[in-house]
This record gives sequence, structure tokens and C-alpha cells, in this order.
Amino acid sequence: MTDLLAGKNGLVFGVANHRSIAWAIAEAAHRHGARVGVSYFGARLERRVKPLAAQIEAPLCVPCDVGDDAALDACFAAAAEAFDGRLDFVVHAVAFADRDDLLGRFADTSRAGHALAMDVSAYSLAAMARRAEPLMAAGGSLLTLTYYGAEKVVPGYNVMGVAKAALEAGLRYLAADLGPAGIRVNAISAGPIKTLAAAGIPGFRRMLSEAGDIAPLRRTVDQAEVADAALFLLSDMARGVTGEVLHVDAGQNIMGCPPVPR
Ligand code: NAD
Repeated sequence: MTDLLAGKNGLVFGVANHRSIAWAIAEAAHRHGARVGVSYFGARLERRVKPLAAQIEAPLCVPCDVGDDAALDACFAAAAEAFDGRLDFVVHAVAFADRDDLLGRFADTSRAGHALAMDVSAYSLAAMARRAEPLMAAGGSLLTLTYYGAEKVVPGYNVMGVAKAALEAGLRYLAADLGPAGIRVNAISAGPIKTLAAAGIPGFRRMLSEAGDIAPLRRTVDQAEVADAALFLLSDMARGVTGEVLHVDAGQNIMGCPPVPR
């Protein structure tokens, strides 16, 4: 296996536990030669995240609420110090919506709930990009995680689908803004995977089993498959790719209706 990310420095947001997509990406990036810093949300997760960070010899492991500008400033300052001022990639694998806003109808979403989901799940990518840019003087790669609920109505995904649509539009504007500096911005649209965040989505088990029935590959995907695609997008192999949403969903998104049983 090649060292796709040899010599690169990366910062990964969104590690909550060993099931996190962010963890799979951090671990794969480390395996492929990158130095990987880890950021997590709040002191409550420290006990779980610190031992994971130790497994990949993370040069930094810092808490950060991406809804807080001062916390983001501190996190990127810590990264600048740990990586001697050079960052090659950032992984944005964070999202949040109040569970109340995922139950029932999107039409009933509260103003505050809508603002919170947008802030944490969509705006935070721009907030990170702005802080990463000065550390990416030699170019770089930003990667975010999205879901099919941005494109089509997925019952129960509600305000999170709207936030993911904003995230996807946002990454295209960021790709246009940062492209001249050699910074690429892409997303992976992952099929449903059992994680902490997924557990908060009403009807997730149904989403998971239907995805496996509908997808051309007749199965769901796992964290390792998303991480492998992430390695590509973060590496120089994808040096000509920006503003892209790559589906890693066993093909589920191409299906207009369920397959006919044979
Ligand atoms: P996860 O729960 O492991 O990760 C979500 C992360 O967001 C957690 O680490 C959580 O602490 C963090 N977070 C929430 N609010 C935050 C805040 N204010 N500041 C900083 N961090 C905050 O679940 P996951 O499934 O690995 O989710 C990672 C990303 O993948 C999310 O963007 C999610 O929407 C996306 N995604 C997940 C699936 C899936 O089925 N699991 C599918 C497609 C996309």
C-alpha cells in the first residue's frame, strides 16, 4: 500500500468515538503517512477521544465547539504551532440538529433550531476554511461530509437535509474562492452508517435497511470505505478535483425507485 499522504499535516474535526467517520479518516490518513491532529466537541468526549488520538500519535488533540469563533481561533492557533505553520488538509465531519427538530414536520422547525443546525453543520465549513487558508500557503485540501438528504427529501432528516444542502452549496463557493490559492474543497456524500450522530435521526434503522435493499451494490457502506475515498480526495491523486460531491453510498443515489425483484 502506498503512502498517499506522506509528509502531509492534517486536522480532523468530528471524532466522537471509534465509530466516527472522522476517526476512520484520521486513522487512514495516519496509516498513509500523514501527521494528524484531532479536534473533538467538549470535555465530555475527552475520555474517549484522547486514547484514540494516542493510537495515531496525534501531535495535537484539542476540544473545539465549531459554533464558537474563539474556540476555532484557539484550535487553528494550536494547529499552527503543532505543525510549524503548515497545514495540508482539514476534515470537517461535524453536524448537529436538535432532535426535536428532526421529529415531525420540517415545516414546524423552530427559528432557533434552524439557525443552530445551519451554524454548526454548514457555516462552520466556511469558518474553518478562512482559518485554514493562511496555513495552506502551498495549497491544500478541505473535505466535508454530507448526505443524500441534501438532494432529496428523506423523512426524518428534516432541517439537517436543509443544512446539508447549504453545506454543499457552500463548498462550491469556497472552492471558487480558494481555488486560486491551490486549495481544493470537496465533499463525500456517505450512505447511512451506524454512528452516534446517526442514532439521533428518527427512523435511521429503516434508512439503513432500505439503503441496502435499494443500492445497486445491494449493501450499505462502512466507515473504512468512506475513509478510502477521503484518502483520494485529500491526496495529490485528486489534485484536479475541487467543488465536487463524491457519493460513497454503494450507488443508492442513482436509483429513482426501488429495484424490481427478479
Ligand atoms: P459522529 O457522531 O461520530 O460525528 C459527528 C460529530 O459532530 C461528533 O464528533 C460531534 O461531537 C460533532 N459535533 C456536533 N456538534 C459540534 C459542535 N458544535 N462543535 C464541534 N463538533 C460538533 O457521527 P458521524 O456519522 O461520523 O458524522 C460525521 C459527519 O458525517 C457528519 O457531518 C454527518 O452528518 C456526516 N454523515 C453521516 C452519515 C451517517 O449515516 N453516519 C451519512 C452521511 C453523512
